[in-house]
Amino acid sequence: MNDESQKDKLRQHFARRVTTQARVVLDTWQKIHEDTGQSAAFRSDFARAADKLVRYARRFEMAGHAESGQKVFDLISQWPEGISLPEGLDRQLQDAIEQLSRCTLRRTDQTATEAPQQYRRTPVYIALSSEEMASRLIRQLEFFGFRASAFHTADKLIEACALHKPETILMDVNYGGEPLSGIATIERLQERHDTPIPIIFMSDEDGTIETRLRASRCGGEEFFFPAVDPGQLIEKIETYTHGNTVEPYKVLVLDDSRAQAKFMETVLKKAGMTAHIITDPMQIIHALEDFSPEIIILDMYMPGCTGMEIARVIRQQDRFHSVPIIYLSAEEDVSKQLHAMSLGGDDFLTKPIDPKHLIATIHNRGRRARSLLALMIRDSLTGLFNHTHTLHLLDQEIVKCRQKNQSLCFAMIDIDYFKKVNDTFGHPIGDRVLRSLSMFLKQRLRKTDHIGRYGGEEFAIILPDTRESDARNVLNEIRERFSELLQPAGDREFNVTFSCGVAAWNGDSSQALCERADRALYRSKEQGRNCVTAASE
Ligand code: GH3
Ligand code: MG
Ligand code: MG
Repeated sequence: MNDESQKDKLRQHFARRVTTQARVVLDTWQKIHEDTGQSAAFRSDFARAADKLVRYARRFEMAGHAESGQKVFDLISQWPEGISLPEGLDRQLQDAIEQLSRCTLRRTDQTATEAPQQYRRTPVYIALSSEEMASRLIRQLEFFGFRASAFHTADKLIEACALHKPETILMDVNYGGEPLSGIATIERLQERHDTPIPIIFMSDEDGTIETRLRASRCGGEEFFFPAVDPGQLIEKIETYTHGNTVEPYKVLVLDDSRAQAKFMETVLKKAGMTAHIITDPMQIIHALEDFSPEIIILDMYMPGCTGMEIARVIRQQDRFHSVPIIYLSAEEDVSKQLHAMSLGGDDFLTKPIDPKHLIATIHNRGRRARSLLALMIRDSLTGLFNHTHTLHLLDQEIVKCRQKNQSLCFAMIDIDYFKKVNDTFGHPIGDRVLRSLSMFLKQRLRKTDHIGRYGGEEFAIILPDTRESDARNVLNEIRERFSELLQPAGDREFNVTFSCGVAAWNGDSSQALCERADRALYRSKEQGRNCVTAASE
């Protein structure tokens, strides 16, 4: 082993120690936070864990962890021994803990060598009659970076929700022992929250329409009956936690009246959208480039040109061929409106604009445009980028790389003996494995990395601003963790591994880069699978 990779290995090893210790701190806080009445018992554990974290982080030069660990430790020092956590400290500690957990985040753009995200900040709460099922789920969820907690009584659950609102609750309809007592608990709980918590209900006895209705009325988003498969459940939880964070729509408004434009801007921003306003039609090309709008609103009549002429210019650019265009005017002549629409517009709004109508129109158009775009660029099974779009992104990243003089890696992943998985457990379970790997990758890679489904059981990853040795280490860590993940199949469980090849861009074409990654993958397969090979090795 050469010097550089030896050092990398050491660094990675130490980084893991620090993040493992950070996890101990987070775990202990979770216990304290969930039940402050019992918190005195955990004070010394908590202090010891934080102290150890600071010492490790200093020794291994992980400044972020050291700093936030120190903050936690200082706050604990203000907590007198033998008493429950004082209220004021609770909030301060929560802030410090959040800062610490942000250090362990992987989705933010940290250097590729730091360990993967262990926790999302918002927990998933589990209230099931079967404790065995609950702990099995918690173990599975942890693999995907969720923090899940199980509760043994309705009161504890309600209390915990008040302290820390969960992402979602998995609730047994009969939780608590009585028929429908789980639903009753949720009804009680939702009363205390302004925005309802999304609930996933399950029942193995009662799937009647009356019960389903009642469940749905108190925030039930899903209803599993009669049996629930952990794999399926985790997929649902994943969609809730990701689905909730819808990116705001990017809306470009062109209106020569400054007052009208300002009014639109205010309305759009109030609705949580990102607005970009221009009043000079000649700025349109520039605004398209800079802002990349998802929806465009054009005034019909402006000095120098009409909205329809601008629309035609916009449509002449491939990239904006399908961006919805909405016209805005006092025009009430239906035949003129129809003419405008035939020239590349999608909708028509007449002034004065009713803000509600405007927002509803943008939502409808935006949602449709996004789902059309998703059809074009995403794979329907996993939601990852499809083959074509992955290659397109790779080309784009290579251009950026050239400009900024940065490094870039491309990795190919192929699941080992996947045919056997299909043969043994069936195609639907095979599909679930593909989805679980895709979720796993999304969870563990940075937001700036692009993940694509390259083919059947092959995945491709673009890692901008990453050196080959870092990429290899990150992927190797993911490989190791993924191989430990238990894949559920009915009441059986099994493990799946993958092989990976990674190559760094060296100025060559995207095609050549793909080929080098593919050859490295082939070498991983040859060497017995379940390993990562770098092209330069
Ligand atoms: P190796 O370790 O050499 O990669 O062996 P393997 O069995 O994984 O590779 P092989 O290429 O022989 O088989 C790939 C299998 O993947 C065959 C195909 O049925 C399966 N597959 C491809 N796409 C899908 C899919 O979308 N869903 C499921 N369930 N299976 C798929
Ligand atoms: Mg294959
Ligand atoms: Mg394979």
